[in-house]
Amino acid sequence: MVENAQYLDANASFDHALEAAWQIVRDKLKSEVGEAEYGTWLRQIVLGPLEDDELTLFLPSRFLRDWVRSQYEERLKSLWRTEYPKVQHIELLVRRGMAESTSDTQSSPNTDSTAAAGEQGASDVPPEVRSDLAAPLDSRFTFDSFVVGKPNEFAYACARRVAEKPSSPGFNPLFLYGGVGLGKTHLMHAIGSELTKTGNVSVAYMSAEKFMYRFIAAIRSQSTMEFKEQLRSVDVLMIDDLQFLIGKDNTQEEFFHTFNALVDAGRQIIVSADKSPSDLSGLEDRLRTRLGCGMVADIHATTFELRISILEAKAKASGTTVPAKVLEYLAHKITTNVRELEGALNRLIAHADLVGRPVTLDSTQDVLKDMLKAHDRRVTIEEIQRKVAEHWNIRLTDMSSARRARAVARPRQVAMFLAKQLTSRSLPEIGRKFGNRDHTTVMHAVNRVAELMEQDPSFAEDVELLRRMLEG
Ligand code: ADP
Ligand code: MG
Repeated sequence: MVENAQYLDANASFDHALEAAWQIVRDKLKSEVGEAEYGTWLRQIVLGPLEDDELTLFLPSRFLRDWVRSQYEERLKSLWRTEYPKVQHIELLVRRGMAESTSDTQSSPNTDSTAAAGEQGASDVPPEVRSDLAAPLDSRFTFDSFVVGKPNEFAYACARRVAEKPSSPGFNPLFLYGGVGLGKTHLMHAIGSELTKTGNVSVAYMSAEKFMYRFIAAIRSQSTMEFKEQLRSVDVLMIDDLQFLIGKDNTQEEFFHTFNALVDAGRQIIVSADKSPSDLSGLEDRLRTRLGCGMVADIHATTFELRISILEAKAKASGTTVPAKVLEYLAHKITTNVRELEGALNRLIAHADLVGRPVTLDSTQDVLKDMLKAHDRRVTIEEIQRKVAEHWNIRLTDMSSARRARAVARPRQVAMFLAKQLTSRSLPEIGRKFGNRDHTTVMHAVNRVAELMEQDPSFAEDVELLRRMLEG
């Protein structure tokens, strides 16, 4: 309230109706989410200006802004639209030095931690993260339910090994990395379940994000000692999605110390990330070095064969008969992410159950229409050519030129490969867009790129990245 008045006084166009609507929106939100949640996340939102149909709302830190954006933006928007239809869009911006400093005086046990608290917006930590240390393990993610194929066999073998014999020198830390939805979390949980089966090993699994929240919460409640002791008392510590700590220097520092303490005490550390230690730029050098000291295992993008095996296994587990043709179709269409592949299959099975008819290729196309459309998306070949040319710094015209120098020929092949994967164009159609090339040239390009991706992880990463960018 006070903050609003401050902001709006400074603003010539005081809008009573807007202010009144804001009051209603806030009250509704508060009654929807409850006092506690409202107090933690939403109280500090400050009304900003309305321009055209876009309303600006301010938050005091980036952390808080990101959180509100991910958790509440849709709800905020729809409340505004209902209460005050002039507002159709919402922009959440960070404005420092407003509510947070007045509403909450920070006190911390040591200066080091104050820095972390300040940088990451410590008062944003919800109270519940102060409770138990680790997240529970998902019982579905076991070694038995993990389908092994060429792209993941090494990571799988390493995970098995660590589960059998934690803290062996060559395997500590175990660093698993790979793209989204390729099974990193699954493998970590599998290790955890296997170890806790025996009963006398204490395992703590948490995402790097949770690690940060907990660390900050400990600073806030002046219990960093307890937090450290708790962490350092486990036999196995697993931190998932470490890339989250990029740019969070103080949390990184804390993690580094925990890491060292545990390894020195002969405990096992398992870490996952979306990139290899050496590619995680933005992590402190000494941390990257230590992360790479044990076993580093990457999970490659899935192959068609692996996707088929995964689908077969999941179909079998479901007890519903799914024709091989359908599995092949899915494995062709959904190539990036096992989670989506699984989602598609589950939808088919649920649908078949519901209508009491078997799964067929026709029903598949029908049931998955939206999903598959999202995959064919509106990416055009021109868009692909542009992005790829930009990425490798070549001229757009070289996408259709006759030049054969490797520096242009390779990117051109990648663009053809992506055109095949991301659009529904046929090989001859694609060929035409690349300077009237023959469809066999396109086919060769597609195979060659797939081959290179298998052989060269950094090339594979480039292609993956492009694909993700194009898919939006
Ligand atoms: P990541 O952590 O790498 O993003 P997840 O471990 O969360 O990926 O995997 C996404 C989903 O795909 C999970 O449901 C997981 O069980 C499933 N999955 C991934 N790889 C495999 C595999 N090789 N076999 C069986 N299921 C898999
Ligand atoms: Mg994961």
